[in-house]
Amino acid sequence: MLRLLTIVRYRSVDHSGDDQATTRRWDREFILGATAMSMILGSAGYFAIAETSSAAAHLTIVAYNVALASAYVARNAARPKFVLLQLILIMSPFCLALVMSNNIFYIYVGLSGILFIIGNISVVMSVHRNLVALIKANKTADNLSNKLHLQNLTLDAAINTMLHGLAMFDENLQLAVANERHYALFSLKEPSALKSFAATERHLVRSHLISRNDAVSLYSACRQSLAERRALEVELVTSEGSNLIISFTPAVEGGVLMLTEDATERRSAEAKIERLARFDTLTGLPNRHEFGQRLSCAFEALAKGGPSFAVFYVDLDGFKRVNDTLGHEVGDELLVEVSKRMHRKRDAEAVISRLAGDEFAAIHLMNNPETIVNIAQEIAAALKEPFCLRNNTVRISASIGVAFAPEHGSTPETILRHADIALYRAKANGRGVTVVYDESMAAELTERLVLETDLAAAAAESAFELHYQPICDLATGKVVSYEALMRWPHPTRGYVPPNIFIPIAEQTGRIEQIGCFAIRQACADVATWQEDISVCVNVSVLQFRNPNVLIECVKNALASNRLDPRRLTLEITESLFIDEFEATLRTIESLKALGIRFALDDFGTGYSSLSNLSRLPLYIVKIDQSLSRDINFNTTSYAVVEAVCALAKRIDLIVVVEGIESQAQKLAIQSIGADRAQGWLFGRPEPARRVWEQHKRAA
Ligand code: C2E
Ligand code: MG
Ligand code: MG
Repeated sequence: MLRLLTIVRYRSVDHSGDDQATTRRWDREFILGATAMSMILGSAGYFAIAETSSAAAHLTIVAYNVALASAYVARNAARPKFVLLQLILIMSPFCLALVMSNNIFYIYVGLSGILFIIGNISVVMSVHRNLVALIKANKTADNLSNKLHLQNLTLDAAINTMLHGLAMFDENLQLAVANERHYALFSLKEPSALKSFAATERHLVRSHLISRNDAVSLYSACRQSLAERRALEVELVTSEGSNLIISFTPAVEGGVLMLTEDATERRSAEAKIERLARFDTLTGLPNRHEFGQRLSCAFEALAKGGPSFAVFYVDLDGFKRVNDTLGHEVGDELLVEVSKRMHRKRDAEAVISRLAGDEFAAIHLMNNPETIVNIAQEIAAALKEPFCLRNNTVRISASIGVAFAPEHGSTPETILRHADIALYRAKANGRGVTVVYDESMAAELTERLVLETDLAAAAAESAFELHYQPICDLATGKVVSYEALMRWPHPTRGYVPPNIFIPIAEQTGRIEQIGCFAIRQACADVATWQEDISVCVNVSVLQFRNPNVLIECVKNALASNRLDPRRLTLEITESLFIDEFEATLRTIESLKALGIRFALDDFGTGYSSLSNLSRLPLYIVKIDQSLSRDINFNTTSYAVVEAVCALAKRIDLIVVVEGIESQAQKLAIQSIGADRAQGWLFGRPEPARRVWEQHKRAA
């Protein structure tokens, strides 16, 4: 009754929230009740058998106890110790009583009872083992299923966060799995309806995302990958402009894996990189590499009967000056403007390229050489027009070398080299000139390169000589000064004249060094002559680029020879004043402050303007021999010399006429009123030693 009460009490409460301690309490009550009951039943059995002779009591208690013991075995196999205790408590007392009786049948039943206890204990143990195994198996299964679930989640996450679209098709090309990216890349809005490869593909064509041709190549790549068990790739551009790379890989378990990459950005980056490699970023023109390619194409076309063409090599004169004085930004803008002007002047099929820095090149298809030369001259003229950049008026010019294909070269290398040689000549001829290549130039260039190397060596050792040509006063007939004229005694060529090597020295940047040598040497020489003799030294325009070097050079030459500065005259030319008049004037003023004098050389040859004469701080003006040569026959020459003399008188300039070879010339210039003369009539240029002999200073 008490046990029933326990059960009723237990059932009446909700146990879903029970903790372990509560459950243990109930369990303890249960064990206690059961054990007490087993003890009561066990002792009842003993007393019924041992103390009574009622067959009914004996039968009832044995049947009752055996049934109850069996129930324990069946119900509590999970707790073998508990069952063992109950079995022993219920069965052993009455079995003992039966065995101890004198009745052979009772002894038999008692022994059977003991065997029953042993047998049931082994059954309980076995059931218990099975139960434990089952629980363990369940636990493992649970663990496995948890793991599998977790793996599925990870896989799902991985597939759906993939950058590539992924779809897996079985052998029949039915869709097994696909990630969201796959649907997104193909704009597939109703994925459930697209269960097969064929259906997906039809849908794509119908929605105009891909063309029918692309669809066909996709399908055949997929089939082929499946059949031949190898990976295949297809690239296509969708109607929305996406660049898709689709790869099919056969799966190990059969079927095919379709991976789709959106390569739109990659392809556009690749295109950008390719553009950078082929085009100049500043001007957008093809670069040297690309120009080389186009030139090769032009030659290939020519070989197949295509049109002949011309190659221009263009170099800007004065670009460096712009860059240095106005800054790189203005320099860059200038290059952009130059490229625009060149574009404006080109014919439709021309290729214009920026090779490097201020070097441009062009390919022009050719109708006839005259038209091409005209185009080149038009380009040169266009580039001569002033540029307006950031409120600066910038003037440059362009030298252009032209070579015709196939006449001047049948490979890109030769045609470019020949255009370059022509450009070289153009630059040597002055600024803004166009020159067409001819055969003689190459030989000349080689010769020149040899001279350049020799000159470099000579400059390093100052292996030059100064020869002196007298300048006479026409009134007294006396030598008043000498002009220092440089000579280069070449080991194999003899004396190289200055109009050959001075321009090379100017172009190769050695003029500063050579020019300073002339000043130093002339001062040293004149210092040993009579004090009323002075010396004139020619100075190159380029020596004015670095005024400080020139000024230092003059200062040192005067100081180290203790020379009266009035005995040194520097001969300059008018070309000095074309660029940067003010800066040049400042340099001249600083030099003049040292006490030296200036002569304007070669007057009447180039930019002659009488107005310059009065603006410059000059002492002498030298009229060029081209005017004096025909002074007796040419009235214009006569008139010019006369005008110069008249002006010079007014502004206190001494007039020296050069190139006087005859008495007639001398008389003519004398009658016009020139002060001094220079020329073969008075003496040729001679080494310093000879002059010294005539004018050595009285010791
Ligand atoms: P330039 O300064 O006009 O010198 C006069 C040139 O005329 C000299 O030529 C001289 O020899 C030549 N000459 C003089 N009298 C006569 C004559 O009666 N008839 C003819 N036909 N020629 C005559 P050279 O020595 O060949 O010098 C040529 C040019 O080289 C010079 O012209 C000058 O511009 C330049 N030069 C010479 N030495 C130097 C130098 O040390 N530095 C620089 N920067 N230039 C120099
Ligand atoms: Mg001179
Ligand atoms: Mg001269």
